[in-house]
Amino acid sequence: MRIKVDFDLCQGHGECEGEVPEVFELNDDGKLTVLQEEPPEELREKVLQAKKYCPTMAITVED
Ligand code: SF4
Repeated sequence: MRIKVDFDLCQGHGECEGEVPEVFELNDDGKLTVLQEEPPEELREKVLQAKKYCPTMAITVED
């Protein structure tokens, strides 16, 4: 599983961080960092939730 974030779309609301803080981290300026671009399989469900709830559809998950 590989995560990509379109940073042109991301508006830094942080829903993704709320779902999977192990993978997504927002700094104080609302700038997102992807901590693990290839997270372990056990985080798949949470990552898919983050993708689903991202309001700008900025998250892509590839296998
Ligand atoms: S949920 Fe989407 S828009 Fe919000 S910080 Fe995460 S990637 Fe960006």
